[in-house]
Amino acid sequence: MPVRLNPAGMIVAVTIALACAIAGLGAAALAQMRSDALASASEASANLALTLERSISRNLHIYEFAIAGVADAIRAPEVMQLPTALRQRVLFDRSLNAEDMGSLLVADASGNLVLDSHKWPPRAVNVADRDYFQAHAHDANAGTFLSQPFQPRITTENKSIGLSRRVPAPDGSFGGIVVGTLRINYFRKLFNGVSLGSGGTLTLLRTDGTIIMRRPYEDSSIGRNISGSSSFTPLLRGTEGSFIGVAAVDGVQRLYSYRRLPGFPLMVVVGLSVRDVLAPWYKRAWWFAGLIAVVDALLVGLAVLLSRQWRRRLAMEAHLRLMVNTDGLTGLGSRRALDDAADKEWRRSRRDGLPLSLLMVDVDHFKQFNDRYGHLAGDDALAAVGDCIQRHIRRPGDYAGRYGGEEFAILLPGTPAAGAARVAEAIRHAVQALELPNAASPLGAVTVSIGIATSSAREGDGPAFADLRAFLHGGDQALYLAKRDGRNRVVVFGETGETAPTLSV
Ligand code: GH3
Ligand code: MG
Ligand code: MG
Repeated sequence: MPVRLNPAGMIVAVTIALACAIAGLGAAALAQMRSDALASASEASANLALTLERSISRNLHIYEFAIAGVADAIRAPEVMQLPTALRQRVLFDRSLNAEDMGSLLVADASGNLVLDSHKWPPRAVNVADRDYFQAHAHDANAGTFLSQPFQPRITTENKSIGLSRRVPAPDGSFGGIVVGTLRINYFRKLFNGVSLGSGGTLTLLRTDGTIIMRRPYEDSSIGRNISGSSSFTPLLRGTEGSFIGVAAVDGVQRLYSYRRLPGFPLMVVVGLSVRDVLAPWYKRAWWFAGLIAVVDALLVGLAVLLSRQWRRRLAMEAHLRLMVNTDGLTGLGSRRALDDAADKEWRRSRRDGLPLSLLMVDVDHFKQFNDRYGHLAGDDALAAVGDCIQRHIRRPGDYAGRYGGEEFAILLPGTPAAGAARVAEAIRHAVQALELPNAASPLGAVTVSIGIATSSAREGDGPAFADLRAFLHGGDQALYLAKRDGRNRVVVFGETGETAPTLSV
């Protein structure tokens, strides 16, 4: 059986569906706004990584050229024979004295300094243990080597990295190195000039995982190797990229963009704190979600109010309908409902070809009953008769109503005259058995007379009535005959062979 929702329930159901749709759309919009925020942050960090990578690459390449120049020049005897001051100027470009550039040094095969861009004679220092020396001592094809961060021996200044090249001896064997040092302060200043948000990070890493510089700056993190951390692995995928990860150093979730420096074992990593990136979104999301919640709550609240009103109205209508259709005294149908039922059953019997019987019930000598016992007792008696009638009509479709005053009418659809007579007789008998005293009646009790009219389905089965009006009139006539013949009896229209004088109806 299909489930039928009443309109009040429908209002609430539709509104809840609408509220869910609004909430769903809101959630989708928020999700879109969130991914937009992350996408634009990702783009910004990728651009920043590119800018930093270009800037650092450019300086390192210039430095690489200078070192290569020194390595070439020291092999030219005419340069080495120049007077000291002139040789220093020829070998070491002035740009090398720029801020945060370290020294350009030449060491012999055993690591002792033989030339120093800052001093002549060079400082008595041995660099044989440095990685930038060892790399060339053991590998003739190391090319340009970028060192791990180290603490310079010559000065007490902060850490540096070295860029070194092999210098071959005249016989081709290892003859020493040229190394240029660069203070990592250079990177620190470069990073400090960038606006990043409070939780952002910038990192310059060797591709082996060693931190060369990190912002926020911490002395202890310089030289630290993070190759074992989970956030390092994604950095090895390709020469550039973006991902969201949790930082090994501080456990903060960040949106990372990284870029390798072409030609150097270095990469720049820009990390923007996801919390920073999404902070404006969170603010908006709270407002948005709050607004949607209020709108939804208002909608549902209104719908509940409306449905409650609707339900009240329906209940009121049902109550009014019941009042209009019910006789207040007997609980049977009202005259109005009876007229409707008669009209409906009459048409139905015509349509379906089924008989329809009408019982007209009238209480005998009731005027005198009233006169003698009073109107209130009369009402009680009528209620008792009504109750009797109600108890005797049990078939679905049977309908009893108060026709007016102390008259009742009963409609028995699908019931032929004989069946109707049986029901009538049972009612008559039951009323008599109530033994309600009525001194005016020959039996001394309240009795009823019943006239029956049956509109038969088949030709010749009984009197044919032209229309409903004639049918009702037939019932009245039978009742008249029952009264005339002594009351407390049942008469079926047409069975006595005589008809009552036409009554005005
Ligand atoms: P008959 O046997 O011929 O039917 O006699 P009767 O006195 O019943 O005749 P009639 O139909 O003329 O009288 C009907 C009376 O029923 C009139 C009135 O006193 C009484 N009556 C009608 N409606 C009501 C009612 O609602 N309550 C009470 N108590 N009496 C009613
Ligand atoms: Mg009457
Ligand atoms: Mg009467």
